[in-house]
Amino acid sequence: ASIGDLIRHPDPTFSFEFFPPRNAEGEQVLWQTIRELEQLRPSFVSVTYGAGGTTRDLTVEVTERLATETTMLPMAHLTAVDHSVRELRHVVGRLASAGVRNILAVRGDPKSGVNGEWIKHPEGVLYAEDLVRLVKESGDFSVGVAAFPYKHPRSRDVEEDTKFFVRKMKAGADFAITQMFFDADDYLRLRDRVAAAGCEAPIVPCIMPVVAMGTIARSAELSGAPFPPALAAEFEKVAADPAAVRRLGIDQAGELCQKLLREGAPGIHFITFNRSTATREVWQNITGVRAHAA
Ligand code: FAD
Repeated sequence: ASIGDLIRHPDPTFSFEFFPPRNAEGEQVLWQTIRELEQLRPSFVSVTYGAGGTTRDLTVEVTERLATETTMLPMAHLTAVDHSVRELRHVVGRLASAGVRNILAVRGDPKSGVNGEWIKHPEGVLYAEDLVRLVKESGDFSVGVAAFPYKHPRSRDVEEDTKFFVRKMKAGADFAITQMFFDADDYLRLRDRVAAAGCEAPIVPCIMPVVAMGTIARSAELSGAPFPPALAAEFEKVAADPAAVRRLGIDQAGELCQKLLREGAPGIHFITFNRSTATREVWQNITGVRAHAA
């Protein structure tokens, strides 16, 4: 199935994001999580692409296993960092032969971090836009791209950010998934400015529930913007009680999802950090259905 088509369907999609495990223990945790979340029958699941070396092979391996050993529809993330066009085509070919037909084409960040100098591989591609074209030319793929509610840190302003986002869609992308954010208005502003630029891209919001105060501290790093101050104040009130922080985080994420869906968001993409509990709780909050874990 094409994720682009699912996202364009009137029923909202629900999807989960995993990262390739770093060791045997991580692998066990991931597969336990996958089995638990499979019971929620998500529309699709995605696996991020690592920064280099073996974790990249693992992205392909996990995605292949998802395609062949589970009932879920997998999407592989792919980045352009340190890859020649030939290598990129090889990865895309491997995914295709495992039956993976959905790819999230993102440029990736340099190893030195999000603001480090981005150096193109001498035989590689420069922007996500070029990666979208490469994947589209390689076969019948549904391709997603990244969208940034607070603009990408490298973009001068939101106008420039919107212009390049629209170019990426015009290069052949079928849908977009956002960077995580915590205030529905930030998503709605992104959607409005993309629509005002004449682009009808379906943009799926990405949500990560706060389960500890540390998430708030890392918000700028994770989302590209400080945590909304009014919401931070609510968390501060219960900061001494980790269980209360978690409860508030789950409730707040549930309310955010409900608002986004009421406002017509085409679905919700959950960052899971390879754990199932918080995601299941938010899910339950949205659907009102208690999910049964194995
Ligand atoms: P691009 O769209 O290429 O944009 C990068 C910058 O260049 C922007 O500032 C843009 O405005 C500018 N730009 C674009 N086109 C042009 C042009 N023609 N001329 C001049 N400037 C231009 N990273 C990973 O390593 N692995 C992952 O699996 C991964 N998954 C992600 C999933 C999602 C949903 C999101 C939101 C991000 C993900 N990332 C991942 C992070 C992503 O790789 C970084 O945020 C990266 O810095 C930007 O990627 P992009 O695809 O938006 O880049």
